[in-house]
Amino acid sequence: MSNNTHPHPANLAPPAPDFPWPDGKKCALFPGFDVDAESVWLGMDRRNAERLVTMSYGGYEARVGIPKLLELLARYDVRATFFVTGWTVEAHPAVCETILKAGHEIGHHGYWHLRPEPGDLTAMVEEVDRGFEALKRVLGVKPVGYRAPSGESFTELLALLRDRGIRYSSSWRDDIRPYRHVLPDGPGPIEIPVNYSFDDWNFGITHRMSPRALFGREEVLSIWRDEFDQTREWGGVATMIMHPQVSGRPMRYRILEEFLQYVRRYDDVWWTTGREIAEHFEACEQASK
Ligand SMILES: [Zn+2]
Repeated sequence: MSNNTHPHPANLAPPAPDFPWPDGKKCALFPGFDVDAESVWLGMDRRNAERLVTMSYGGYEARVGIPKLLELLARYDVRATFFVTGWTVEAHPAVCETILKAGHEIGHHGYWHLRPEPGDLTAMVEEVDRGFEALKRVLGVKPVGYRAPSGESFTELLALLRDRGIRYSSSWRDDIRPYRHVLPDGPGPIEIPVNYSFDDWNFGITHRMSPRALFGREEVLSIWRDEFDQTREWGGVATMIMHPQVSGRPMRYRILEEFLQYVRRYDDVWWTTGREIAEHFEACEQASK
């Protein structure tokens, strides 16, 4: 790192533009699921492939978590975005097919769930391209949304994603409304920022490679309701990061269901997918030119 670089904001994008949500809605709820399955554990250490109890944390997704969550979303008539790793779609093609058939959006989430590290663009090109290839071959899908595995990203990766046809990223933590990235060579993808208060991993999984305390329904619902209420007041988007190996577990499923019931009491919330938010943003951008 050079010592004579003048300090500047890490994100060059101006604040999010002021545009209305569709149909007079006051805010948006974007239910996003990261379908890591076993790949999140492989991304931490490839030797986990033979640590079968560790792998079983992720295996829960295909066996129980995803089918249960699909049933819940159908019951509430909610469409969501599922960011699926290439590894998962190859290992669990049938269950990934059920996500698509249920009408949900499929997004890109890497191949091995490798955490993007600045300085290793070659590894990321392979990771991104292999993810695209697997989603195309197994599901026939070309995703337009990307969520960074383990929540990290860097400038060259954003440019790569844009050049490969990714229209939105959902990874940054610096806003409550969508904005467009600014890259050194021009506009980047739209960002639909995530809210880490809605990341179920923080509350509901514990393992020696991811040691955390478990939080019960009172704590989680209190955080989720408060965060949602104020995001609604501010006209933002409540972007959720859920994992079928967390929110597909019995008590977590109940917490999610209660939260859906809570949000449903309001009739001014746009329940939507990342793709629809990106399309709406693009339309507003065009209209303002
Ligand atoms: Zn993930």
